[in-house]
Amino acid sequence: MNIDGKLIAKELREKLTVEVAELKAKHGVQPLLTVIIVGDDPASHIYVKNKVKQTQEVGMISNEILLPANTTEQYLLQQLEQLNNDTSVHGILVQLPLPKHLNESAVISAINPDKDVDGFHAVNSGRLFNGESNALVPCTPQGCVLLAKHHIGEDLTGLHAVIIGRSNIVGKPVAMLFLQENCTITIAHSKTKNLDEVCKQADILVAAVGIAQFVKADWVKKGATVIDVGINRIITEDGKTRLVGDVDYDNVVTKCGAITPVPGGVGPMTIACLLKNTLVATKRYLT
Ligand code: NAD
Repeated sequence: MNIDGKLIAKELREKLTVEVAELKAKHGVQPLLTVIIVGDDPASHIYVKNKVKQTQEVGMISNEILLPANTTEQYLLQQLEQLNNDTSVHGILVQLPLPKHLNESAVISAINPDKDVDGFHAVNSGRLFNGESNALVPCTPQGCVLLAKHHIGEDLTGLHAVIIGRSNIVGKPVAMLFLQENCTITIAHSKTKNLDEVCKQADILVAAVGIAQFVKADWVKKGATVIDVGINRIITEDGKTRLVGDVDYDNVVTKCGAITPVPGGVGPMTIACLLKNTLVATKRYLT
């Protein structure tokens, strides 16, 4: 069966809409998310357009800063400093990837960790690693856990979560989150031996690899919950392009207990969790 990320994300946004209205009524504060986009990467502009739309739909204020591709690092860092000091701004997000001449890690480090709604600042990674409750947690990993819980139930204690991928934005944080849920975790990656055998042990299998239809049905334990993070574009036999995940969906769906489809699984949860982080950052600012 499918885990319907579109529906679950919609339900989360509805919940956030109510909470934003309550916050406004009680404190007269409306969460404000600023998104900085540098350059004219078409995919980034589509992502940002969706973020802006959904931010406004839940009743938050969205502020977009569009900068030309030749923006200097110094200018970008100055912009971030201003936003850090602006008390009306609760969340700051710099859309990645940045043009090559800009140092992503220096830019992310310049965001105030308490406004870092993407959760990529090393302070937030450290808080997550230490299990501190004040971490702003990366959005896609949060979405993965919410989707797994939606199918399995709130208590994941003792389940074996195998994560394929060790990136800082997906693999590592999602592993930390499943550990917090009392799962036994295995992080597999490009150097893992006998990957199929490792995957077969998973009660929860998360694929964050970036290779189309990589995870095969005979790697999946019967009844496992499969969370497919991958977004890959393939050319079909009739020459059209199609989005597929990192899991061989058509063959895995009949074997696993539940799977997130691509599109319509993890993707929609990412923006919903970004809005959740913006609300969390706003509430923390008020206390
Ligand atoms: P990445 O390239 O940074 O990391 C890929 C990971 O896969 C690496 O850790 C690598 O060790 C592992 N890997 C590569 N080849 C492997 C192999 N042959 N066997 C086992 N492991 C292997 O990618 P990422 O940023 O973590 O993203 C992963 C995927 O998730 C991509 O398809 C990306 O588009 C997608 N993604 C989706 C969302 C979303 O909102 N749905 C968000 C972020 C990323």
